[in-house]
Amino acid sequence: MSGADNVVWLGTPAFPEAARGALADTRLRANLRRATGTIRDKRLAVAAELEDWEELRETAAAIKRHTLRHLDHHLLRLEKAVTAAGGTVHWAADAAEANRIVTGLVEATGEGEVVKVKSMATQEIGLNEALAEAGIRAYETDLAELIVQLGGDRPSHILVPAIHRGRSEIREIFRRQMGQWGRPAPEGLTDDPRDLAEAARLHLREKFLRAKVAVSGANFAAADTGTVVVVESEGNGRMCLTLPETLITVMGIEKVLPSFADLDVFLQLLPRSSTGERMNPYTSLWTGVTEGDGPQDFHLVLLDNGRTATLADEVGRQALNCIRCSACLNVCPVYERTGGHAYGSVYPGPIGAVLTPQLVGVENAASLPFASTLCGACYDACPVKINIPEVLAHLRAEAVEAGRRDRLLPTTEALAMKAAAAVLSSPKRLATAQRIAALGARLVARDGRIGFLPGPLARWSATRDAPAPARESMRAWWRRTRTTRRDESRTTAEGKEAR
Ligand code: SF4
Repeated sequence: MSGADNVVWLGTPAFPEAARGALADTRLRANLRRATGTIRDKRLAVAAELEDWEELRETAAAIKRHTLRHLDHHLLRLEKAVTAAGGTVHWAADAAEANRIVTGLVEATGEGEVVKVKSMATQEIGLNEALAEAGIRAYETDLAELIVQLGGDRPSHILVPAIHRGRSEIREIFRRQMGQWGRPAPEGLTDDPRDLAEAARLHLREKFLRAKVAVSGANFAAADTGTVVVVESEGNGRMCLTLPETLITVMGIEKVLPSFADLDVFLQLLPRSSTGERMNPYTSLWTGVTEGDGPQDFHLVLLDNGRTATLADEVGRQALNCIRCSACLNVCPVYERTGGHAYGSVYPGPIGAVLTPQLVGVENAASLPFASTLCGACYDACPVKINIPEVLAHLRAEAVEAGRRDRLLPTTEALAMKAAAAVLSSPKRLATAQRIAALGARLVARDGRIGFLPGPLARWSATRDAPAPARESMRAWWRRTRTTRRDESRTTAEGKEAR
């Protein structure tokens, strides 16, 4: 399996091309603007309620930094604690191994279907597709994930995967597709949110009551107690985590926390940063297996899939601190306009732009680090203080370097940069270039403005104009006026001396 195959969907068009289509979709942009704006305002309001918000962010970042520095140690502690509590831990180096493990575990139960709690890790490895190949049907139970699955669609937001869908679209998807997957949508279904939620509830209920196996992700796992945590808003996750006999959790290795007490920090930060709530409605915690209570067979699959390689990068490793709150998506001006599909990965937005290239190799996702204005809003919003602009700049340098290595001939941009370096390193050459550029610009200017530039510069001027340059450059003006004044004052001083 190549690096690019480790995370599903890569290989869709590069970001600029994929974004072009999204930018032309006015309905998508309106949906995104409304949804991200609402969550953004709620997040700001609830974060402002906590006087120690900044201290909480600092503490969370410090805990994550410490955990990553001693990741092997904490993972072994977690394995020991989960095993002692009656669970079984599996280690998966990549997507293929994780899929093999989960498929084997489901097959061992003799079941042909599983219910799923929303999980980015299982999307990352393409688990549903792998299960389908083995003849096992996976049912998504998170409402937004259900909409995505029924619509044969892809998630476009970490927290609200169907953020790109409006209510009437959802009604159509339910009416057309629910019957293919189980209980059909009620007759006369409207696009009222309550009606849509009730249709989903009825559709899912029969699956919860029938399911013998569930697959989940995990938000956190405490290494000292072996406790695994899932936070969610609907309670569908709670049904998956408690009703079936077998529970299989797939968790990225970076989700481990040294101790149960660390949850105190993260359970304050996560709901406020993700849904703008003080506390999320459902927080499920379980430790191994408890006789007579919940699943009696628990498996924890610890997934690497590029994370160890990411850990080796001193600048890039901070992307592993992410707690998937999606605050960075909701403040990102690029995400708000393009939506999540343009990123070609389960991880969209600013965090996707820094995480995906590291998980799959920069050369396989070279356009993503450039999918940002570097405005820094993501860094300000991130509850664990990931310096996303710093990682973006770092990965851009890597992408340029990788491109240079793979190319026999230099690009136009590389040649232009070389020429610029030669001009800017010599005052004489700079003055000559300025004179030539000013003359050329004045030739193409109309009414004092440049609206068109020839050749490769035409792409720049196609969307903007600029004032025509002054007849005289700043440097020329300085030389002319200051030199004359200096000469005059020198002459006056010499005259005084002579007298
Ligand atoms: S990078 Fe930060 S803001 Fe973005 S999803 Fe991760 S934790 Fe949240």
